[in-house]
Amino acid sequence: MPVSEIKTVKLLVNGQFIDAKTERRGPVFNPSTGDQIAWCPFCSSTETAAVVQAARDAFPAWRDRPVVERARVMFRLVALMEKNAVELAKTVSLEHGKTYEESMGSVRRGIEMVEFACGMPTFTMGRTLQNIAQDVDCETYYHPLGVCVGITPYNFPLMVPLWMMPLAVTAGNTFILKPSEKVPLSAMKLAELMTEAGLPKGVFNVVHGDKECVDTLLTHPLVDAVSFVGSTPIAKYIYETATAHGKRCQANGGAKNHIVVMPDADMEKAATALQFSAFGCSGQRCMAGPLAVAVGDAGDAIVEAITTRANKMKVGPTDRDWGADMGPVSTRQHLDTLRANIEKGVQEGARLVRDGRDIKVAEAPNGFYLGPTIFDRAHPDMFISKTELFGPVLSVTRVSDLERAIELTNKSPYGNGAVIFTKNGHAAREFKHRAGAGMIGVNIGVPAPMAMFPFTGHKASFFGDVHIQGQEGVRFYTKQKMILTRWHPESRAGEFVTTRG
Ligand code: NAD
Repeated sequence: MPVSEIKTVKLLVNGQFIDAKTERRGPVFNPSTGDQIAWCPFCSSTETAAVVQAARDAFPAWRDRPVVERARVMFRLVALMEKNAVELAKTVSLEHGKTYEESMGSVRRGIEMVEFACGMPTFTMGRTLQNIAQDVDCETYYHPLGVCVGITPYNFPLMVPLWMMPLAVTAGNTFILKPSEKVPLSAMKLAELMTEAGLPKGVFNVVHGDKECVDTLLTHPLVDAVSFVGSTPIAKYIYETATAHGKRCQANGGAKNHIVVMPDADMEKAATALQFSAFGCSGQRCMAGPLAVAVGDAGDAIVEAITTRANKMKVGPTDRDWGADMGPVSTRQHLDTLRANIEKGVQEGARLVRDGRDIKVAEAPNGFYLGPTIFDRAHPDMFISKTELFGPVLSVTRVSDLERAIELTNKSPYGNGAVIFTKNGHAAREFKHRAGAGMIGVNIGVPAPMAMFPFTGHKASFFGDVHIQGQEGVRFYTKQKMILTRWHPESRAGEFVTTRG
């Protein structure tokens, strides 16, 4: 497509899809082909502030709508998402590069979040205690906060915004989504469906941009809460800046999840799960398993089994139905960084068992492809063992026993997920209790929670107090009000006046 014909993505402000005024913008690519498919505008501070004002203006009327009415919009959104699921999945594949199955999986997880939000009338029921003191009753209510913001990463263009928006909006807040500038198209499809579902103007808004736009959202006095998902350095910055400006904040960061393989594990099942964990979504998942910790004799067996599987994987375009097992990575720049990091591993002395750098994809020679890459005997202090690479690169580290495996897992600055493959109940129990990560898998490669459970990252994988998703998500987007009421007997009218005793 000639550059002059490439369209710039619109904003959704106060119910209208409008052109951004800014001239600053960045390219959006189809990573399968390397072609540019859109421009993403980078909104100025002034333009971003106008979106905040629109969200604020819409808040009082939306807050005052009965919660069952707000939930009804989510019921309609579920139906619309089901109807448009194929188109949504294709859009995710187009701009991100996931396989169709992976994209559809993320759409399903997103729909589950919306279904969960339909339970908001139950989640926001308060508690009461009658006669807590003489003639005094106590009750609690949940109130929305006001304007909530979601700032999201590129690796799940549809699903991560849905971790936030449905709960925030159904709880009575208005919401501004700032999607990743690399993948703004899925968010706009969602915006169309939200509008069709009958959400009032200004309740859900989408603004695009980079640091200037984000900084405006973090510091604007009319923003009440910020949810963030992305890399650790930015998560820390977001949390510190938002809280310094008086906002409630939850910020999920990066990860380097350890997958412990015990010698008694079912090696075939463990290798299949590890393949999915390390190479699924081309390794671009915060719950991916890029570091296998092989205990004792497990080393040779797991390296052989995973290499055999990786050798059979078809890597190719995912923007059409070509049956690829793995797609490209997000951008040319990310591909170049990954290639350089693989070279660092080689220089550090890890054994490169499978090199994905020499992959050729004839049908899409300009796509951003990296084949599955496997290092064996990676030392825990090597760059490739410590750093989140965020690509299809698996390192295998060998240790003597479970104690060493737990120790190694706990040395990581990150604490998103940790997994053990074993048939031994005691080993599993030790690991569950002592592994220093917030989401643990036992014989599960990617222990990501479903909508009704919180996303409980620890250490540098999470900044904040109340996690995203589940009922914790509801608590994040609401504040409690406690009311004590006393009616004195003498203030009761006529026949209702009684004497105690
Ligand atoms: P990123 O941190 O680069 O970007 C995330 C968001 O922050 C984007 O919207 C981006 O526009 C914005 N941003 C980037 N730099 C900024 C800056 N200097 N100031 C203000 N805003 C800025 O992350 P990414 O590369 O899009 O996503 C991949 C990362 O996200 C990985 O580290 C991955 O582990 C992490 N992630 C974490 C989770 C989780 O739940 N823990 C889930 C998905 C992804």
